[in-house]
Amino acid sequence: MKEINCDVLVVGAGPAGSVTAWYAAKAGANVLLVEKRQEIGSPVRCGEGLSKYWLKDVGIPEDRRWIANEVDGARIFSPSGKVWEINEKDAGNEVGYVIERDQFDKALAELAARAGAEIMLKTWVKGIIKRDGYIRGAVARHMGDDLKINAKIVVGADGYESQVGRWAGIDTSLKPNDIDSCIQYRMTGIDCDRRYCDFYLGSCAPGGYIWVFPKNEDTANVGIGVQLSKLKNPGEVKHYLDRWIDKQPGIRKGKKIDMVAGAVSISQPLEKTVDNGLMLVGDAARMIDPITGGGVSNGCKAAKVCGEVAGEAIAAGDYSAEFLQKYEKGWRALLEEKQYRNWLAKEKLVTLSDKVFDDLLELLSGTKLERLNVLNMLNAVREKYPEIVKEFEDFL
Ligand SMILES: Cc1cc2nc3c(=O)[nH]c(=O)nc-3n(C[C@H](O)[C@H](O)[C@H](O)COP(=O)(O)OP(=O)(O)OC[C@H]3O[C@@H](n4cnc5c(N)ncnc54)[C@H](O)[C@@H]3O)c2cc1C
Repeated sequence: MKEINCDVLVVGAGPAGSVTAWYAAKAGANVLLVEKRQEIGSPVRCGEGLSKYWLKDVGIPEDRRWIANEVDGARIFSPSGKVWEINEKDAGNEVGYVIERDQFDKALAELAARAGAEIMLKTWVKGIIKRDGYIRGAVARHMGDDLKINAKIVVGADGYESQVGRWAGIDTSLKPNDIDSCIQYRMTGIDCDRRYCDFYLGSCAPGGYIWVFPKNEDTANVGIGVQLSKLKNPGEVKHYLDRWIDKQPGIRKGKKIDMVAGAVSISQPLEKTVDNGLMLVGDAARMIDPITGGGVSNGCKAAKVCGEVAGEAIAAGDYSAEFLQKYEKGWRALLEEKQYRNWLAKEKLVTLSDKVFDDLLELLSGTKLERLNVLNMLNAVREKYPEIVKEFEDFL
C-alpha cells in the first residue's frame, strides 16, 4: 500500500476543512487536505444564504466570484401572511449574501493551497489509524488505490454524515428531533424580491421553515427543512415543499433547474470534539445553528481556531487531547452559549401552533428590539405570552 506522511490530515474540503487547512498551513504545519469528491464545492447542498459580519474575523476576503446577490434583510412570514422584516445585521447567519457555494468552497480551498496545504481530490477516507491511544492517520482509497496517510493530527471536517468522530469513539449520533430533513429547488422565472431572504414558518414546514433565497431578480433557492421526527417517511419532505409551491402563483409559474436533498443537525453542541491526535470541526462537530440551520459561518469560525491550534500543537510537538483542549475551549467560547440558547428556543418553537406563530410575528413586528437575538426576543414575548417562555425562565 502506498504511504504518505503529513503533520495535519484534514478530512473533507468543505468550508470548515479548507479554513482549518488554511490556518494550520499558515502556522507552518505540513497539511494534507483530502476530499472524496472530484470537485470541491460540487454538487452544492446548500441554500447559499450567508451573513457577512463574520467574514472579516475569519480573514476571508470577499470575492465577486462567489457573491451572487447582496440582500438588505430578511422577511419572516407567519402562516396567515403576517410579515416581520429584519435588517441584514440582525437577521442571523443565513442573511447578507446569497452566494455561489461551489465558488465559495473553491475560493477557501485556494486560500489553503496558497498557504502551502496539499490537496488531494477523489480521496475517500475509509478508516483511521489508532496506535498507543493516539489517532495517527487514516487509510483512504485514492483513484482506485489504497493509501495509508500517517499524520500527527487528524481533523474530521467530513460534514453532516461524518464518520471520523465515530471511528475515534466520539458520540456524534443525533436524535430525530435534532435533525432537519431538507430539500431544495433552484427555480427560475419566479417572482422574488432580491432585497430579501424570505422565511415561511408554521405547519407548511413542521419543526423547520421554507426559504426563498434570491440569486437574482427571478431566480432563487426555494427549499424546506422539516424536523425528521415529524415526517412519516423521508420522502414526505418533498410533498410539503411541492404543496407549498403549488399555493404560490409567483413561484409555481417558475421552472426548476436544480434539486438537492440533505440534512442538517439542529442539536446541542457535542460534549467532546477532541481526543489524542484528533479534532472535529464544522458539521462533523454539530456546530450548525439550531434555529436557522445555517452552518457555514459557525464552521468557519471554529475552523480558524482549529487550524491555529493544530499549528501550535505541531510546533510544540504535543498532539495530546490535553493540548488540543485549547481548540475545544476556543470554539466553545465563540459559539457554545448561542448554540445552546438557540437549541432551547428551537425545542419550544417546534411545538407552536400556526395561531401562536401569527400572534408572535404580529407582536415582534411591532416591537423595537435593541439587539435582535433569541434572548431579547424571548424577553419581548414574555410580557405578552408568559406561557410560551415559561420553560426558559432559568435562562432569562
Ligand atoms: C439543503 C441544505 C441547505 C443549507 N443551507 C444553508 C445556508 O443557506 N446557509 C448556511 O450557512 N448553511 C446551510 N446549510 C448547512 C451547510 O451546508 C453546512 O453547515 C456546511 O456545508 C458545513 O460545512 P462543513 O465544511 O462542516 O461540511 P461540508 O460542507 O458538508 O463538507 C464536508 C466535506 O467532506 C467530504 N467528505 C465526507 N466524508 C469524507 C471522507 N470519508 N473522505 C473524504 N472526504 C469526505 C464531503 O465530500 C464534503 O466535501 C444547508 C444544508 C443543507 C443540507
